[in-house]
Amino acid sequence: MRSETSPIRRFAFIVGAPRCGTTFLARHLEKHSGICFSNVKEPHFFSGTDLRGVPATEFKRTVERDYLDRFFPHRSRSPFLAEGSVTYLYTPEQVKPLLRLWPDAKFIIAVRNPLEMVPSLHRRLLCIGDAAHAMSPVGGVGINLAVQDAVAAANRLADPLRRRAVTDADLEAVERRRALPVRLTQWLQIFVQNRVIGPTLARQDKVSAPAVVKLINRWPALRRIPGRLVGLGVLPEHVRTPDVGTAT
Ligand SMILES: Cc1cc2nc3c(=O)[nH]c(=O)nc-3n(C[C@H](O)[C@H](O)[C@H](O)COP(=O)(O)OP(=O)(O)OC[C@H]3O[C@@H](n4cnc5c(N)ncnc54)[C@H](O)[C@@H]3O)c2cc1C
Repeated sequence: MRSETSPIRRFAFIVGAPRCGTTFLARHLEKHSGICFSNVKEPHFFSGTDLRGVPATEFKRTVERDYLDRFFPHRSRSPFLAEGSVTYLYTPEQVKPLLRLWPDAKFIIAVRNPLEMVPSLHRRLLCIGDAAHAMSPVGGVGINLAVQDAVAAANRLADPLRRRAVTDADLEAVERRRALPVRLTQWLQIFVQNRVIGPTLARQDKVSAPAVVKLINRWPALRRIPGRLVGLGVLPEHVRTPDVGTAT
């Protein structure tokens, strides 16, 4: 087994809140010739693995095998390592054991005025389904739209997610694509509620079928329209992620 914890004299951890410039800082450190940055920006190793109470020899072995070999395979004998697991800020008690190996480790804490951070966080959030557009029960189509939103999101985001390069523009593109079918469906739901369901329920006398239903009864070919609207919606979505076709 390699024993490469000892030559590493210095370690820097970028920790902090989201949207506080940690990725920007990480990208700059990655380019520095004297620094070996982890192969993924946020290994989250010490926040995800509770190594408190693990005996010193086993602790060192675990860190080498599960942390250094995995996230710093390119470290060679670099004396300065760095990584950017922001979650270490929230689990200081679990991070403490690493000071046994690197007592001089530096923690760069990135924080920001929370009021400025909120709009920035919000722009990165993609809401789909009822979280983005609450649907009424009319037509029983709310779940269809929620699933279609999910398919549209997967189609657009699968590739940038794999490359870890999702941008605000990608999220906005999903929202833009789904806006029209959602608005049209909600408009139809309101129309049916106000013109058909509401007046029908309010009537005291004998109820007869609304004109639109009579028309559909008279021209069977027209039945395809509500069937299609309910079953497929205004803008049907088809799964187009790269792994389509590999499923059995
Ligand atoms: C009375 C009524 C009847 C309806 N009937 C139909 C119908 O027959 N057919 C149809 O297609 N649509 C129907 N709809 C609409 C449909 O229910 C919604 O459009 C659909 O459920 C939206 O799906 P969703 O996944 O976006 O949200 P939801 O189905 O609301 O799912 C959101 C989930 O997130 C969970 N959650 C919320 N907050 C948190 C949190 N902080 N942490 C973890 N989990 C959380 C919730 O418990 C919930 O399980 C009806 C709606 C109503 C109000």
